[in-house]
Amino acid sequence: MSASVTHWVNNKSFPGTSGATAPITNPATGAVTGEVALANVEDARAVIDAAATAFPAWRDTSLAKRTAILFRFRELLNERKGELAQIITSEHGKVVSDALGEVSRGQEVVEFACGIPHLLKGGFTENASTKVDVFSIRQPLGPVAIISPFNFPAMVPMWFFPVAIAAGNTVVLKPSEKDPSASLWLAELWREAGLPDGVFNVLHGDKTAVDELLENRSIKSVSFVGSTPIAQYVYATGTANGKRVQALGGAKNHAIVLPDADLDLAADAMVNAGFGSAGERCMAISALVAVGDIADELVAKIAERTTPLKTGDGTTDSDMGPLVTRAHRDKVASYVDAGEADGATIVVDGRTVTAYNGDTGTDLTDGFWLGPTLIDNVTTDMSIYTDEIFGPVLSVIRVDTYDQALELINSNPYGNGTAIFTNDGGAARRFQNEVEVGMVGINVPIPVPMAYYSFGGWKASLFGDSHAHGTEGVNFFTRGKAITSRWLDPSGNNLGPARSAPGAN
Ligand code: NAD
Repeated sequence: MSASVTHWVNNKSFPGTSGATAPITNPATGAVTGEVALANVEDARAVIDAAATAFPAWRDTSLAKRTAILFRFRELLNERKGELAQIITSEHGKVVSDALGEVSRGQEVVEFACGIPHLLKGGFTENASTKVDVFSIRQPLGPVAIISPFNFPAMVPMWFFPVAIAAGNTVVLKPSEKDPSASLWLAELWREAGLPDGVFNVLHGDKTAVDELLENRSIKSVSFVGSTPIAQYVYATGTANGKRVQALGGAKNHAIVLPDADLDLAADAMVNAGFGSAGERCMAISALVAVGDIADELVAKIAERTTPLKTGDGTTDSDMGPLVTRAHRDKVASYVDAGEADGATIVVDGRTVTAYNGDTGTDLTDGFWLGPTLIDNVTTDMSIYTDEIFGPVLSVIRVDTYDQALELINSNPYGNGTAIFTNDGGAARRFQNEVEVGMVGINVPIPVPMAYYSFGGWKASLFGDSHAHGTEGVNFFTRGKAITSRWLDPSGNNLGPARSAPGAN
């Protein structure tokens, strides 16, 4: 079967030569809706070569021209983001409002990258030594690779490619094979915005494609987002091949609720952060740490808000969609089974959910359904706590003190996001200082930084030292150069008669 979703090279579709494909599924119905091409090494090289060929002309394209294309891309995206959201929902399953939210967060990075002329300004020192000036510039790297996960098929690539392209690099994007169509829609938008051939390319595939990106000498940097074991592999292999690598990994995000917190606000936040996008967010809260004697009341408030949620077809007014694949759905459900067997209390059980179709008549029987699941009395030795589950499962861990809660977070291998709920500014301030996590919310459950700050975790949530977008993103996609220059006095008399020295009168 020929693939309905092909690679994208030089502003056009490229079927590749491998003949290998993977099925694309609508998670709400379980139906196979298409096939995505899986590259062999020759296909990968053809895409990388196109990016390498396009680089010299793109790096020499003026900033004025580059930003004009970025502004056009931003306008087109803003006008037509509804189309992209529908594509995301049909392959990922998240509800359309969530899909629109992810596109908007990606758009913010495009808007940030429109300011690239300002962001690339260097420094200048006149007369560092007599008649010697020193200045700095930042230059693009070359062809760069972006390897992205299934859970944000538009936003995660957009954390990187607007900045990379604005800075003068050419891009090879390797999206997740589970929801690959968003990348092609974005590629067509770039063409419409006037991006020259070969500047933005898409390579579909699995480990074969990734390994070629990690080893090919033309690729100068790798921006990876996905699970921790693959992030670690990408970081080790990419750096061993002399590339600059930022590899963002998995997460287990904790929220602490202190006894003085507004429990209604905290309960609303936990429902959004635990179950939004079916928990398939790297910033989802999966561990709620209730401090002191508030746990019973807080759990009751969360359960009251969770029970009425509609799990169903993302194109209707559902609150939450299906999980991405049947295998993933079954794996998440098996963690709930294990938690129950280990003695945790299942307060709200999503395993028996009936999918909601909004009276559209769509048959959802074969969809990958698991409703929001709230589990109390979870302890740190249970697999439901130790592992990243990546589903709509919120575990409650009860502790007596703030110090115990902090210790839990700081001894966890991951360090992506965290939040504290309290009305005590002093406690919040201590937390922001003491917690070993890259992104911290204070009465904010999902503290995703704005595009002009940088996104990234600590510990097993990020390998490398550069976070995404913001100034760290600009630095990642450019190399600094310092220039020391000496010009002799003007020769000849082409300046006319000498003027008097400054300040002489
Ligand atoms: P994944 O690691 O399975 O896949 C990510 C990418 O790596 C995909 O493009 C995939 O094709 C490729 N890949 C998969 N197996 C590979 C292999 N053996 N060798 C080389 N490449 C391989 O991740 P996923 O399931 O698509 O996404 C979910 C994971 O991503 C979760 O762990 C989540 O926490 C994480 N994530 C992290 C962040 C963050 O900012 N830290 C953001 C989003 C998602």
